[in-house]
Amino acid sequence: MKLILLGPPGAGKGTQAKMLVERFGVPQISTGDILRVAVKEGTPMGLKAKSCMDSGALVPDDVVVGIVEERLQKDDCASGFILDGFPRTVPQADALTKTLAVMSKDLDAVISLEVDIEALVARLAGRRTCKACGAGYHLEYEPPAKPGVCDTCGGKLIQRDDDQEETIRNRMAVYLDQTLPLVEYYGKSGLLSKVDGMLPIEDVRRAILDALQVAE
Ligand code: ADP
Ligand code: ADP
Ligand code: ZN
Repeated sequence: MKLILLGPPGAGKGTQAKMLVERFGVPQISTGDILRVAVKEGTPMGLKAKSCMDSGALVPDDVVVGIVEERLQKDDCASGFILDGFPRTVPQADALTKTLAVMSKDLDAVISLEVDIEALVARLAGRRTCKACGAGYHLEYEPPAKPGVCDTCGGKLIQRDDDQEETIRNRMAVYLDQTLPLVEYYGKSGLLSKVDGMLPIEDVRRAILDALQVAE
């Protein structure tokens, strides 16, 4: 399965990507996760990316395109991948099209998670992530059994630096300006399916599998 998940910040891309990883046994490629690791490790790329990420702006196209090109070459992508948070601009989408053509790979589908932008502020403000294993939670919609503690590994749950209201608003503006045009871009390719991302998490998962025409 070779899939792109499109949608604004907080649409549920990461949450659904993790479920699709289980279902299809292919890796999740999240440029946000890869960039956050680079920032934490203080690599030259991380140092370059940090100020963009902190303000809610996009990291330059050449940086993220480089990350994805390198990641797609790894053996675990042989039978597919779930792209989460990439592409985010038309030049990134063009670069991906070229890279996949060179690798003789075709995308199977692009899923656009359709959500109400106003609801996303609440989603992102309540988002928590396990510091140890990266599992995602929500204070209200997907709470851990014990507050502040990961159900899976017992790790500490933290809030992302960029999930503050002002930064969230910037990220939404960036999404509308730079990423939303991709819905039309992939609409033209005939690969696009729109899925209602306002449904409960489990229902969104089912709607994605329906759109892909695969069984549970
Ligand atoms: P969310 O899932 O909330 O939209 P991500 O984890 O995907 O957030 O991204 C966090 C930040 O990392 C973005 O605000 C941006 O600064 C940077 N980033 C992630 N993916 C890309 C990308 N494809 N192009 C440019 N910047 C990116
Ligand atoms: P994205 O990767 O698109 O930025 P996430 O998957 O991280 O979004 O989801 C953002 C937050 O919203 C998380 O805290 C997650 O638990 C929660 N969430 C995800 N999908 C839903 C949903 N369908 N309904 C309610 N909350 C959701
Ligand atoms: Zn954990």
